[in-house]
Amino acid sequence: MAPQVELQRVPEPAAESDILREQLDYLIEHTAQNAQCGCAECQRYLKVRAALIEIFAEPQARVVEIGQLAKAA
Ligand SMILES: [Zn+2]
Repeated sequence: MAPQVELQRVPEPAAESDILREQLDYLIEHTAQNAQCGCAECQRYLKVRAALIEIFAEPQARVVEIGQLAKAA
């Protein structure tokens, strides 16, 4: 018995991560070649970059927070 409704095709996680890497490569290449010309691709690159390096910026942000708490106390 054939199903009447075809299951919706969901991209596999591996395929999605491939897309993410492709996009990241594309954006990095674009900004490398155009020295951040300020176009939509450059804006996307800056957003992605900020999100990806967020974890590295976190310890510094915590220090600032602690400093502010110390002042408030
Ligand atoms: Zn650009």
